[in-house]
Amino acid sequence: MTFTVAIIGRPNVGKSTLFNRLVGKKLALVDDQPGVTRDRRAGDAKLGDLNFTVIDTAGLEESDAASLTGRMRAQTEAAIDDSDAIFFVIDARTGVTPEDRHFGALVRRAGKPVILIANKAEGRVGYAGAYEGFDLGLGDPIALSAEHGDGFAELFTSLLEAL
Ligand code: GDP
Ligand code: MG
Repeated sequence: MTFTVAIIGRPNVGKSTLFNRLVGKKLALVDDQPGVTRDRRAGDAKLGDLNFTVIDTAGLEESDAASLTGRMRAQTEAAIDDSDAIFFVIDARTGVTPEDRHFGALVRRAGKPVILIANKAEGRVGYAGAYEGFDLGLGDPIALSAEHGDGFAELFTSLLEAL
């Protein structure tokens, strides 16, 4: 079985960090500056015994289509179209923002399997924030730490169930 998963979410939630961990190389640019991933990046991901293509995207932002952020949004929508499943990432420390809700709705409308990931969930503070993800209507959030490598067994199980 060969399939593609797109990593979607607003800037700075840790999409590129997750991409790098799944691919096992530093292919994606990780930066504190939101929206640093301007171009789509694809890599060969490994999660448990699953091998698939993963697409890293720039953060979703609401904006004028002519602007840079508009192009990043178009690129994200193309990545959603090209994927078989979506990792929708929120920041467990920040909780759910209006931007997360807006694009959560967009991802839901795509009608593809979505796995909701509450990233930066290392420690108790992160787990508390992850609860806010429940009312996005995207299923139960998986508490993850892309940076520290926590929660990947659960992510594997969820992906298996979603496919
Ligand atoms: P992107 O804009 O969504 O691609 O986010 P990045 O992967 O560039 O990460 C944005 C910031 O969040 C960086 O400073 C990362 O080091 C940090 N970050 C990413 N994953 C985690 C995590 O699991 N825990 C914590 N505490 N920080 C993280
Ligand atoms: Mg990025």
